[in-house]
Amino acid sequence: MTNTSISSSQEAIALESKYGAHNYHPLPVVLQKGAGVFVWDVEGKRYYDFLSAYSAVNQGHSHPKITQALIDQSQKLALTSRAFYNDQLGLYEQKITKTFGFDKVLPMNTGAEAVETAIKIARRWGYRVKRIPANQAKIVVCAHNFHGRTTTIISFSSDPTAQTDFGPYTEGFIQIPYNDIPALAKVLASDPNIAAFLVEPIQGEAGVFVPDPSYLSAARALCTQHQVLLIADEVQTGIARTGNLLASCGRCTCADAHCSGTPEAKPDLLVLGKALSGGVYPVSAVLAQNEVMDVIEPGSHGSTFGGNPIAAAVAIAALEVVEEEQLALNARVLGERFRNALQQYIDSSKIVRLVRGRGLLNAIVINDHPEGDTAWNICLALSREGLLAKPTHGNIIRFAPPLVITAEQIDDCVAIITRVLSAFEPKA
Ligand SMILES: *Cc1c(COP(=O)(O)O)cnc(C)c1O
Repeated sequence: MTNTSISSSQEAIALESKYGAHNYHPLPVVLQKGAGVFVWDVEGKRYYDFLSAYSAVNQGHSHPKITQALIDQSQKLALTSRAFYNDQLGLYEQKITKTFGFDKVLPMNTGAEAVETAIKIARRWGYRVKRIPANQAKIVVCAHNFHGRTTTIISFSSDPTAQTDFGPYTEGFIQIPYNDIPALAKVLASDPNIAAFLVEPIQGEAGVFVPDPSYLSAARALCTQHQVLLIADEVQTGIARTGNLLASCGRCTCADAHCSGTPEAKPDLLVLGKALSGGVYPVSAVLAQNEVMDVIEPGSHGSTFGGNPIAAAVAIAALEVVEEEQLALNARVLGERFRNALQQYIDSSKIVRLVRGRGLLNAIVINDHPEGDTAWNICLALSREGLLAKPTHGNIIRFAPPLVITAEQIDDCVAIITRVLSAFEPKA
């Protein structure tokens, strides 16, 4: 006998625990329904979603326009493989390249696959354009990076939990500290065989580390000087999350006069995923100009599902929603409102050290060591009060609601968060 439906949270948790690999440690909340900024558990309790599936649902849960595109296209044609053309892919490729200002796109499915793809393109460019001797190409990465979970990607992780006992590891990566331009300058000057510098414009998984404002543009200049490709992994920061269409903002098409943007730092390879589909389907992409993308020729790379008609139709709709609903602008304005309100609380708090972030990608640092359980307990208390967030690296709590959130909802959430935090303040 197998269960055919779930009648309680306990039952769902027990099934996952018994039959699923234990590769996650979720909060004990079993979700059944989502709409906009809200999700509901199987008991019918409503929560604000302040994780947004790691920024995959920037457009809000089950956005009607995006789910309609999914339904319509799945009933018409779902998958052809790239052995044949389909009538959606070209439309999508035109849309995404025009939106982000690149000549070409290579469509994949997950973020990790897109990062892998960028690494392959960069290495091949290194041999064929930069003329690096065979098998000598190196890629510079940053400490505390997060780029996904494949064997190659965890080979250059600095997180032992992600890396230990998965070796032997892929060679050819040099790690330098994040937000350290002198270190980048030194390594690029010391080795002529470097093909690329792979970087997150803001380190999300590491705990929302925002680099100096000039970091990316300085990195851009150094890469150009040394004929090294700049690869921006915007899987989490891209698609309006940080208050611009892209955090690297080489080209911001948010069409907003107030867009201060960040200094010009257009990458050579742009990696997108997560919110590219609004969270309803795995869609990822690598974008580049022709000089770089043309190193890829038939047979050299591919994916059965990459560029399928559902993915194409869904991603077009998801990108249109970002523009139509001005999500970048909303993220910028409400992100500032959120940080200012929390800062006011933190000024007299003992339990919270600081708030940091950009747009609606923010985090607070709890005054506890990373092995402590205060942040976890705060997240449990937040969930009881109807707000879902999750600690990262022990004492950091990320706050990243869907970008369709309103000012009243942000204020409501600030009230919930500060009420919960005050219960954790040490008694005077
Ligand atoms: C989530 C994430 C990835 C990996 O995406 P998956 O779809 O989980 O493979 C890569 N890079 C960054 C910056 C991410 O946040």
